[in-house]
Amino acid sequence: MNTTMTANPGGYKVMTPGPTQVAQSVRLARSLECTNPDLDEAFYDFYKETCEKISRMLHSQNETLILDGEGILGLEAACASLTEPGDAVLVLDNGIFGKGFADFVSMYGGVPTLYTVDDKNPIDAGRLEEYLKEHHAFKYATLVHCDTPSGMLNPIESLCPLLKKYNILTVVDSVSAMFGEAVRADEFAIDVLCGGSQKALSAPPGLTFVTVSREAKEAMNQRKTPIASFYANIRAFFGYYEKKWFPYTMPISDIYGLRAALDEVEGDADWLHRHQRIAAACRQAILSAGLFLHIQSGFSNTVTVFDVPKETTAAAILQKMRAEHRILLAGAFDALEGQVIRIGHMGSNCNEEDMTATMRALEQTLRQLGVPLKASLAAEFERNLENA
Ligand SMILES: *Cc1c(COP(=O)(O)O)cnc(C)c1O
Repeated sequence: MNTTMTANPGGYKVMTPGPTQVAQSVRLARSLECTNPDLDEAFYDFYKETCEKISRMLHSQNETLILDGEGILGLEAACASLTEPGDAVLVLDNGIFGKGFADFVSMYGGVPTLYTVDDKNPIDAGRLEEYLKEHHAFKYATLVHCDTPSGMLNPIESLCPLLKKYNILTVVDSVSAMFGEAVRADEFAIDVLCGGSQKALSAPPGLTFVTVSREAKEAMNQRKTPIASFYANIRAFFGYYEKKWFPYTMPISDIYGLRAALDEVEGDADWLHRHQRIAAACRQAILSAGLFLHIQSGFSNTVTVFDVPKETTAAAILQKMRAEHRILLAGAFDALEGQVIRIGHMGSNCNEEDMTATMRALEQTLRQLGVPLKASLAAEFERNLENA
């Protein structure tokens, strides 16, 4: 190879809640020979089959479209494509990503109404129903499946059908949950389901995909005003296969990688179950050691979030993990900055070996920083994994 680059220059084990470790098959797929994706008909078939595979894996009859941009693009594209000036939008908020949707709604001229509830527990369908009885004149609602900074998993399977009962379209950010948590898009009544390449799917960052219902397509087609974006315009993709035309040139190598990542997930019958077992063992180890999980209930199987012990700081923990163990963990941002540490056990990160090494390093790090632990994180993790 004649290149001036070094692969993974830090030599880190990436144990963050996205991006995650990328399997060799995915990396190799990205090196396959390229064609001109605008002009080669065979690429349209490849793109379509890849989209259909995503729909199938999300248990949906709806069309999936892969967009060239990181996960955020999917969220923005959903809002850009659905929102007309003055539209009322319900923003369900019990976390940082939840609240963040309000910005996208406003940016495209919509009027967001925040439904803000307790951020330590999942959104409760019963209480939402009480609210909806009085307030339901919304074009669509936004929900976050796993709000990654706190690790909160919301019950989209009951929240979305409830919203639909009031004729409200549902936009779900499942970027950090899908492929780590069961998602059945049609059964859950999701109109626009947003995913990303770099979380539980464990492809590199760079792609987002949206699975769009017939009703959501109609809403986009029946707009009175044009969509106020080119790059975030989902409607521009409709009929791409018949027209043999994409709104912009597709990132072919990224999509090769994505396809290989989907193959990895589909070919591993234990994939979801492993997420459950590893996550449960991780949470139990945190508790046995006397540390505190950040939320009270609604734990996602993709990420575990614990409070920074009072004896130390998030920066000190992350720095020691990096420098002495070559392991990347994540802190958080916004309101949670400095308050929590996040272990991302989704996708390729979700395996016993890497997790045991991470727990061992974390245990050493915390002890060296003067945090008294009631039990060994690594031993408790392994013990709980055996019992799971
Ligand atoms: C990761 C993530 C996204 C994508 O955004 P980033 O730029 O990678 O932070 C969107 N939503 C959620 C819930 C995520 O976890």
